Amino acid sequence: MTPDIRVGHGWDVHAFGGDRPLRLGGVEIPGARGLAGHSDADVLAHAVASALLGSLALGDLGTHFPNTDPRFRDARSLDLLRQVAGMVRRQGYRVGNCDCTVVAESPRLAPHIDAMRQGLAGALEVEVAQVSVQATTAEKLGALGRGEGIAAHAVVLVVRDG
Ligand SMILES: [Zn+2]
Repeated sequence: MTPDIRVGHGWDVHAFGGDRPLRLGGVEIPGARGLAGHSDADVLAHAVASALLGSLALGDLGTHFPNTDPRFRDARSLDLLRQVAGMVRRQGYRVGNCDCTVVAESPRLAPHIDAMRQGLAGALEVEVAQVSVQATTAEKLGALGRGEGIAAHAVVLVVRDG
């Protein structure tokens, strides 16, 4: 029997590049270098959407939103996340909570954490208190530590409705 609570994990990374603004959790970070990608490259929204899909074994983000599909060029990832949250609800589950970590050597994300939580909570249609966003650096180690890009990890708990 399928359990009433399920956990999902998501991970994503994008290299810096292109000429778009940096967007994390739907929040545009002023003055920061943007990330390269087919959509708006919102690495945090992608990690959360991936975790949601994983929680119900619905496949991965690339299957649902292929980067070869022109419809998703420059797509707002928060809208994609909203669609994935809808899939979860249609399966009879709701989001219990979500915890994310953004790994970025720069910019400093602390001033934007609350706005990111609000952005994600809005797309997930849950309370802000159900969404945690942590920020850390890679301690100068590896590609992330050299500031070549930004990664995001997310775990979500989904709870069967009723
Ligand atoms: Zn991505």
